[in-house]
Amino acid sequence: MKAILVTQPGGPEALTLHDVDVPTPADHEVLVEVMVAGVNYIDTYFREGIYHAAPPFTPGLEGVGRIAHDPQGILAEGTKVAWNNAFGSYAEYVCVDRERLVAVPQDIDDTVAASMLLQGMTAHMLVHDVYDLSEGRSCLITAGAGGVGLLLTQLAAARGATVFSVVSSDEKEQLAYAAGATEVFRYSDNLAEIVRRRNGGHGVDVVYDGVGKATFHESLEAVRPRGLVCLFGAASGPVEPIDPQRLNTHGSIYLTRPSLAAYTQDIEEFTARAQGVVQAIVDGTLSIRISGEYALADAVQAHRDLQARHTTGSIVLRVRD
Ligand code: NDP
Repeated sequence: MKAILVTQPGGPEALTLHDVDVPTPADHEVLVEVMVAGVNYIDTYFREGIYHAAPPFTPGLEGVGRIAHDPQGILAEGTKVAWNNAFGSYAEYVCVDRERLVAVPQDIDDTVAASMLLQGMTAHMLVHDVYDLSEGRSCLITAGAGGVGLLLTQLAAARGATVFSVVSSDEKEQLAYAAGATEVFRYSDNLAEIVRRRNGGHGVDVVYDGVGKATFHESLEAVRPRGLVCLFGAASGPVEPIDPQRLNTHGSIYLTRPSLAAYTQDIEEFTARAQGVVQAIVDGTLSIRISGEYALADAVQAHRDLQARHTTGSIVLRVRD
């Protein structure tokens, strides 16, 4: 089968197309024929070696496809499924934990199905469980027109929160407003001051920061006393270690660094969260924007565009029709 391999961690060019053996599923897994693979920022951390995987490895965590073989003979071949945590998804076949498969309703497009779970469940955990965002609360979202950013904005606005969003271009600003942002700003050294001014002179209840290194300082400044800074990613690079005393000087604020894995640990929580996302797509509460579809062989360009901040919403790799 064709698969992208990383033999040496590095830049986008580290993603190379190879012929490799079809993997063999373990007893708790099924073999899935991949139709479309989702591309996520976390894939770049693995490719660069920021997150460790022993090379050679095939990156990619999520996608949509059809069951090709169930060693236990329970799940029907040909059933269309989506998944979010099967390492090696940039390939024609991948093994997926049978308990982490989600059935795909007919009216969800394949490209949407390929990218709905990882980013969708992340946005879901951020507004429901990392912080219980509700009517009258306020939040600041960095990278507000990205994959997670647009979904987070829609879910936060749907819960009645005031949503301040930060983006880097006019096009992204329009998309953030269309997703329900109350006000959209550009990155700046006095972002926190601007947000406070527009929030009645107060810091926001919660900052959702997926940009990391470049925005973290302003995130600490932008939150109200006893508010929450949620650092959930590092698109601009990992944040330097900080002195806990800073949480005191910013007003007894809280800092968390959540992962989706910890918020989908048991199968009940995973299933409820995944179904919440699928249902929101079906009933129109959540709209997933696909700004780029690339061939599997063009994974290099997909990563280049993602890291050059050229993408909006989600992007995918078309593996087969
Ligand atoms: P995005 O589509 O949001 O792409 C990243 C965005 O980050 C860019 O479009 C860009 O938007 C912004 N950005 C700001 N500074 C930089 C920079 N220096 N280089 C590149 N991009 C920059 O990606 P995802 O939706 O896949 O992920 C968003 C974040 O969420 C990532 O940090 C990711 O790791 C994290 N994440 C965390 C999870 C968790 O479990 N904790 C799960 C899923 C995602 P702009 O141009 O507007 O600034």
